[in-house]
Amino acid sequence: MQTLWHNGRFVDWEQANTHVLTHGLHYGAGVFEGIRAYPTDQGSAIFRLDDHFKRFAYSASVLKMTLPYSTAELIDATCELCRRGQITSGYIRPVAFYGAGTLGVHPKKNPVDVAIAILPWGKYLPAGKLAVKTSNYIRIHPRSTITDAKISGHYVNSILALQEIDSTDYHEILLLDANGNVAESSSSNIFIVKDNVLFTPPAETILPGITRKTVFTIAEKNKLTAKEKLLTLDDIYSADEAFFCGTAVEITPFHSLDDKSIGNGETGPITNQMISIYQDMVHGKLPEFKNYLTYV
Ligand code: PMP
Repeated sequence: MQTLWHNGRFVDWEQANTHVLTHGLHYGAGVFEGIRAYPTDQGSAIFRLDDHFKRFAYSASVLKMTLPYSTAELIDATCELCRRGQITSGYIRPVAFYGAGTLGVHPKKNPVDVAIAILPWGKYLPAGKLAVKTSNYIRIHPRSTITDAKISGHYVNSILALQEIDSTDYHEILLLDANGNVAESSSSNIFIVKDNVLFTPPAETILPGITRKTVFTIAEKNKLTAKEKLLTLDDIYSADEAFFCGTAVEITPFHSLDDKSIGNGETGPITNQMISIYQDMVHGKLPEFKNYLTYV
């Protein structure tokens, strides 16, 4: 029987229930994380666990949510869950939300529920040539919400955009900001390569990911230049290479945008180098990055 952690207790999967009047369910007032565990030579390890729980606490603070558990307690619970489930690789989903109480929009008197689940999770995006379409929706606006917090309600924007490509041959969508500049995909950040330099949009309208930060670190250690820059659609169409990065998608190249081929339509050399270093890093093969791993 699979186990979850819910409000301080380890419970069976079927028993991890919540009330239908849960505030977060009605209004999106929840925060969450997506974290990956990988097999390594020294057993299972979780990638950048501290950074994910730091962002979790930050996202909760944005919603003025007092988490009843410390980051250290949540990290301990996550590692214990991995040990109990004998998890060697998987996707870890901590979530905190305003629970059942009042149904007014302001969750003043509602309790805070916290849960952690671990799920098997393979590749998020399909392997092979990836076709991307620009969404008709714009990305959530920094004057409508706080975009660098990972808040459940933000994902309605991603869901609507993804539903635009239902029953098409596209695999992912790209959202622009209100000024027409490139923001990010439904669940990842974007990089392009032009003349051997990596570019990514600044952290204004996006969730600036932990993987995005990792890409900057990999670039720096490998004498590649990576810069933040406002990017237009034309920058993407005329890029040599392009890839998405995020915990779920890891580093995934895409090969066309709006039916226009990017570069020569193949995965480029810098993207391949990034994928290879990232995979070695998360699987514990690079001693200089072992501090990113929490061995369970
Ligand atoms: N943007 C969005 C909208 C996301 O959902 C994610 C996934 N958390 C990312 C970017 C990438 O973030 P990270 O690298 O921290 O997983």
